[in-house]
Amino acid sequence: MRRLRYDLVGLVMAALSLWLGGCVYAARPITAPVTATPPATATATPFAPVTNTPFPPTMTPSNTPAATATPLASPTPSPTATSRPPARPRYDFTAVLDFWARTLTVDERIVYPNASPSALDRLVLNVEPAQWPNVFHLESVTLDGQPVRGTLNGTRWVLPLPQPLRPGQSLVLEIHYRLVLPYRTGSRIFGMDARQTNLVDWYPFVVPYDPKQGWLWQKPWPFGDHLVYPSADYDIVLTLKHAAAGTRIAASAPPDANGHYRLRAARTFVFSLSPYFQTATAKAGDITITSYYFPDLAAGGKALPTYASQAVATYTQVYGALPRRHLAIVATDAPDGMEYSGLVFLSANFYRTYNQALVSNLVSLGVHELSHQWWYDQVGNDQALHPWMDEALAVYSEWLFYQRNYPADVRLWWGFRVNYFQPQGYINRSIYDYPSFRPYVNATYLQGARFMEALRRRIGDQAFFAFLRDYYTQMQGRIATPQDFFRILDTHTTKSYQDIVARYFAP
Ligand SMILES: [Zn+2]
Repeated sequence: MRRLRYDLVGLVMAALSLWLGGCVYAARPITAPVTATPPATATATPFAPVTNTPFPPTMTPSNTPAATATPLASPTPSPTATSRPPARPRYDFTAVLDFWARTLTVDERIVYPNASPSALDRLVLNVEPAQWPNVFHLESVTLDGQPVRGTLNGTRWVLPLPQPLRPGQSLVLEIHYRLVLPYRTGSRIFGMDARQTNLVDWYPFVVPYDPKQGWLWQKPWPFGDHLVYPSADYDIVLTLKHAAAGTRIAASAPPDANGHYRLRAARTFVFSLSPYFQTATAKAGDITITSYYFPDLAAGGKALPTYASQAVATYTQVYGALPRRHLAIVATDAPDGMEYSGLVFLSANFYRTYNQALVSNLVSLGVHELSHQWWYDQVGNDQALHPWMDEALAVYSEWLFYQRNYPADVRLWWGFRVNYFQPQGYINRSIYDYPSFRPYVNATYLQGARFMEALRRRIGDQAFFAFLRDYYTQMQGRIATPQDFFRILDTHTTKSYQDIVARYFAP
């Protein structure tokens, strides 16, 4: 009976997930002023001249060089302002995407260093594509050249090690597998639909190991983000077969001269491909921002780079530099936005309803997703258990964007984005504590923004922004915990803020 009830709940949740927002905030007030034109006092929206970015041609494979041994750091000390982040795993891929067969055939090679102070008797991997039937097909896996199998249970794959992996040692895991790409439907970004193929969370990865908490594997949930990503280095050769003429590739980073997609110290690497993409670009310092959109979404697609460059400039100034040269913003037919390293997706609906209003889903959520390059990609967190740690900061980043660039619209933003929903609830719950999407967003994201604002007013701008910069610097490349947040905060203020914590955090 208990099991049956669980299954029924699961079925209902699965059905809900088809239309509920997938992973990120959705501002879909029924009567909110989404389409309101900016007040007369608002700064006019500047539109950037659009330039066309040449796209890389279809990649031809080249031989992936064997991964060199990764130098290992000493066991992870407690982070301080001067300590280095732990040694990173390295991921090398040779992948063939066949559009006719709808398959992605992958040779994956992981060099995994044990950067923890404990010996490891197993590896725990997350295999996101395994949550859907007939998508993930494992062909072989070896550990240091020896065949292993392990146990795949849902998306959790446990590989026992023949002998313990001591601190500072590394091993090589080689996985050969094939994905049969599902139709991209509902809130799921992953998959192939009539005009776009999205490869997100498309490979097994070793979840982070924390000496106190163990392996940070979290189960899927119908809403919210459940994955905890390590910071890793990537080198990918992607070959296309039977691609439509003119197929363009948006990626976490563009390919280098040898056709390798490389990215260092990133949480993940994603691709989006379409023969229909058009592009517009803008620069923010050294960072080139490219908007990939479909022809019917051109107004928003062309407007986004300007807002994006303002947002990146603001976040760079407020939080610190982003070690990236390229960012991509990609339209997709999912109902929400979603952040990945170097690339964020935005719902086609946001483009369709864009009418040049500054306070709109396209602009608000566009700059929200970009802020996740700081609060998710650089500073990681357990998105399942502590989702407020990236989402409260991402919503607050929207406000900083408006405050710094369009100060006349700040009040409109609070009304449209936060107060309209009359948010309630404690911000420090896990995604699993909520039965549905809206209460989760109201508490985690919107109350989260209110908490940040209350904290700022209490400790003052100088301490508040010094704290954010320091927190960003100290936690880059790591997985921050609430203890890290408050430990670093306490080094920047002597003011008491416990009443604010009591208001927003469950005891
Ligand atoms: Zn977010």
